[in-house]
Amino acid sequence: MRYISTRGETAQIGFDDMLLSGLAPDGGLYLPASWPSVDAAAMDDMAGRPYAELAASVMAPYVTGSAAAEPLPAHIKSAYGTFEHPAVVPLRQLDAGLWLLELFHGPTLAFKDVALQLLGRLFDFELGRRGTRLTVVGATSGDTGSAAIEACRDRAAIEAFILHPEGRVSEVQRRQMTTVAAANIHNIAIEGTFDDCQALLKALFGDRDFRQTHHLGAVNSINWARVMAQIPYYFQAALALGAPQRRVTFCVPSGNFGDVFAGYAAVRMGLPVERLIVATNQNDILARFFTSGEYRKDRVRPSISPSMDIQVASNFERLLFDLVGQDPDRLRGLMATLDQSGGFAVEAGELARAGENFSAAAVDEEETRATIAAVHQESGQLIDPHTAVGVAAARRLAPAAPVVVLGTAHAAKFPDAVEAATGMRPALPPRLAGIFERPERCTPLRNDVRTLQEHIRETLEQRP
Ligand SMILES: *Cc1c(COP(=O)(O)O)cnc(C)c1O
Repeated sequence: MRYISTRGETAQIGFDDMLLSGLAPDGGLYLPASWPSVDAAAMDDMAGRPYAELAASVMAPYVTGSAAAEPLPAHIKSAYGTFEHPAVVPLRQLDAGLWLLELFHGPTLAFKDVALQLLGRLFDFELGRRGTRLTVVGATSGDTGSAAIEACRDRAAIEAFILHPEGRVSEVQRRQMTTVAAANIHNIAIEGTFDDCQALLKALFGDRDFRQTHHLGAVNSINWARVMAQIPYYFQAALALGAPQRRVTFCVPSGNFGDVFAGYAAVRMGLPVERLIVATNQNDILARFFTSGEYRKDRVRPSISPSMDIQVASNFERLLFDLVGQDPDRLRGLMATLDQSGGFAVEAGELARAGENFSAAAVDEEETRATIAAVHQESGQLIDPHTAVGVAAARRLAPAAPVVVLGTAHAAKFPDAVEAATGMRPALPPRLAGIFERPERCTPLRNDVRTLQEHIRETLEQRP
């Protein structure tokens, strides 16, 4: 498989090179040059198989011709061996016609583990093969940091520096990061906000000397391999509910548009899906786009589903590429307009194309809380605020087909919001119980790029 850039000004590359490069050199996002297709016979063959096996079949065409092809099934098996549930991503019925796909049984209790557990292994393998090392730097407002740390811990070819805003992540989230006793993991608490952390990261990557000397790399969701690793669970859930004979609808709590784009990829591969519902919180740039055709930035309003508090959705460009008929010139024009004037509108035909697959709904804070309470009352099940946004959107749009809501985080990750809505405090799963006893490792630093660079340099010098 070859990979192309959405902006059309980069040469095609193979999977192994794509894996280690974040954005394409022309500023675009990588996409497969063509969509592999899975026919009905192949789907029948996948149905009912263990998740790791199904995932290996779905992902195989994306790595053909690369060094990752041969060890991929073993990496997948090992990655999903870290999940607590034997089904890896179990499907639970919530109501008549409504299912919850539980994606939160990985090490850090959020769906990001599904992709990052595999990505850490793919990175380590490829770096080992090349005899090079990577310094992963990332910034987190909560969820991504711990998932990235669990993915990178104890990997021989990776050092990871994860920045978080001091005092601005929850205690559970902080301890999930700082109690990891792996020598290659380095937590940094920045005196500042999440935006300050992101600005520092941008400055690090912007310093070409520093970036090249220390082989900086990123694990953010623009990496195609992350999206790829999320495609199989759409197949798994749809097949369990009767696909390809029966169509299902998926409702996806969305922020950066990575997860729901994986659903779109499954559709492009041939999975019969009735609709993909994009569910957003009050940060509704995506919901506004799908109803009006206008994509316009707004300020971020902090919510009780913080992993969806975004201003622009970094993966949206991948869909836009198809909406404009894969015309890179038109796409570059729209992205330039977004940079210059904070938004753009697509043409009626392009919006209609989006409407063939997608619906969208924005859910405010009050409805999110009410949904957590209602689901608890009806089914005894505690759901987290991100998942609740999905359930609320699914109920509002009430499609005729069976609906699968993606459960993106475990309720115990957001105990305060869940307790406020239900009066019940979700228990921390046993695998996390130790985080309140184990010692924390974290370096506090001023919000200053020179100080940060000095710290990274010194830390790397002391490592083997
Ligand atoms: C990251 C995240 C999301 C949003 O996923 P995207 O791929 O960014 O759309 C939703 N819920 C939770 C719990 C998350 O961590």
